[in-house]
Amino acid sequence: MAYLTLRGINKIYPNGFHAVHDFNLEIEKGEFIVFVGSSGCGKSTTLRMIAGLENISKGDFFIDGVRANEKGPRERGVAMVFQSYALYPHMTVYDNLAFGLMLQGVDEDVIEEKVNATAKILGLTEYLDRLPRALSGGQRQRVAVGRAIIRKVDIFLMDEPLSNLDAKQRVTMRSEITQIHRQTGATTIYVTHDQTEAMTMADRIVVMKDGYIQQVGTPYDLYFNPTNMFVAGFIGEPPMNFIEGYVKDGKINVNDNVIDLIAIADKEVVDKYEHEEIVLGFRPEAIKLVGKEDIRKAFKISCTVELTELLGDNTNVYVDIHGIKTILKVDPHDSPAVDAKLEFAIPFESVYLFDKHTEKRIKLRA
Ligand code: ADP
Repeated sequence: MAYLTLRGINKIYPNGFHAVHDFNLEIEKGEFIVFVGSSGCGKSTTLRMIAGLENISKGDFFIDGVRANEKGPRERGVAMVFQSYALYPHMTVYDNLAFGLMLQGVDEDVIEEKVNATAKILGLTEYLDRLPRALSGGQRQRVAVGRAIIRKVDIFLMDEPLSNLDAKQRVTMRSEITQIHRQTGATTIYVTHDQTEAMTMADRIVVMKDGYIQQVGTPYDLYFNPTNMFVAGFIGEPPMNFIEGYVKDGKINVNDNVIDLIAIADKEVVDKYEHEEIVLGFRPEAIKLVGKEDIRKAFKISCTVELTELLGDNTNVYVDIHGIKTILKVDPHDSPAVDAKLEFAIPFESVYLFDKHTEKRIKLRA
């Protein structure tokens, strides 16, 4: 296990493109960190700088407090798993697992012991004689993970390792990787564009956009305390709903619905945003249906149902509030009919406000 420090890390590619800006992060020993963000936001670039596969243009990188900018990949004690499995097609699973150790000149009986132990962790024991082409995608990815963990490394790096798997295999491998992490205890950095993977696997998540860190926090933090509209919209499925509004006399008028800000925010906050554009956010699952539940301390909003999607455990209801589109998540037994008029309530404690210009979250209470 190792702890890592990234201080003011920047990447400027030879063509002048500035892919990562001032990346600062302390990663604790044994932590499972996930870098998440849309394609092109700089996740892989940052990971590759940590791996030593890409040089750091500016800033300092430390492993266990020792500056490692100039260290080569081998000296850093890292193992990396990529999106493509990169297995040797003509070698059996056993040989694929053993190959790295063989190159290092490790004794054969030690290799055998390690291969067997690794295969056991990954449930590959009965496939050791097979060639990669005789394995499923999930099994191949397990071999790729096995090749990385068989060398006792302190730092384990994974770049979108599940993206070639189907949805079901991804769910299985997600929990397998979490379990392997628990067993090996290696400090792990995992890159994905998938917010569900980030939420389910990470100790802490780093949300990135356009080369900048947006927020670092536990899954709980990011979900309940997003720092800005990007994070609020990125984490959660379906994403948070946003309604733009103009504050007048301390109220936002959303068509016929009046949202009286003094109910949720201190007077200074309400006064500060008087005559300003503001964005109100709420999560689809935070709403209650008026008439179904006892509603107090909530803003009520009327809307028309446009579409419903029954997912089994809940129904996504796409509604229109006189031109504003939002999504509500309701109990499947309460699924409304298309074109029905509906009134829903957003409990005060589930309302988020954002500054429309900076897109930053507004603190409601001092
Ligand atoms: P992500 O992993 O988040 O999808 P990357 O780190 O791969 O993003 O890329 C970040 C940005 O840097 C992208 O805009 C990408 O096009 C650019 N980029 C990646 N590699 C190079 C390169 N070798 N030269 C120039 N630009 C690059």
